[in-house]
Amino acid sequence: MKRLWLFDVDGTLINAHGLGRRALERAFLERYGWERATEGVSFAGGTDPWIVGQVFARRGLEPPPLGELRAFLALYAGFLAAEAQAPGARAEVLPGVPALLEALAQRTARGRQVVLTGNCAAGAQVKLELAGLHGHFACGAYGDEAVQREDLLPIALERAAETFGERFEPARAVVVGDSLRDIDVARAHGAKAVAVATGWVSRGELEAAGADVVLDDFRDLEGTLALVGALE
Ligand SMILES: [Mg+2]
Repeated sequence: MKRLWLFDVDGTLINAHGLGRRALERAFLERYGWERATEGVSFAGGTDPWIVGQVFARRGLEPPPLGELRAFLALYAGFLAAEAQAPGARAEVLPGVPALLEALAQRTARGRQVVLTGNCAAGAQVKLELAGLHGHFACGAYGDEAVQREDLLPIALERAAETFGERFEPARAVVVGDSLRDIDVARAHGAKAVAVATGWVSRGELEAAGADVVLDDFRDLEGTLALVGALE
């Protein structure tokens, strides 16, 4: 079966070592004067709008209206680009990722890999460019397009249809991610879930959440391909 691979970014493809959190902190401080605004907020699998909403909620505030949210995320993306230029900034590519992307591209006819991430589009671009992985993805669905991550999968399928001229049913999609929310996205739409424990969630938790395949990392290319190839 020809599949569409939907890749999460943070914890799955890369570890940006707090780049996003530093940029968010700068944006909250600049726009609202809030120090250490994201302290205690877990980012795992959350979309950028959801994370912003959490920060507001911790201050007893309603989430910002759409126009304000967009302005805030634009400010954040600017800080993210600046942080990415800073000396020592790096986005570490997680083990085995380039070889896996290359192998999947060869098996599935080049280009059937897209991004499904909670990062806003500008943020995902900065991170993937810093990591040198941007060339692997022709399109994607991004955090600034929905508050709930589940809503990103239909958007990703639509983008893939526009980009590749080929429709993919949700059952042909494979969500690859490191968080419980990535698994939830797959389950919500009848897609497959490949979970990798290179982020902030343990292998045991990923297994308990019902991922179809759980991997410690992507180091073992042949083993990974055998497992994902057996998905039905
Ligand atoms: Mg992630």
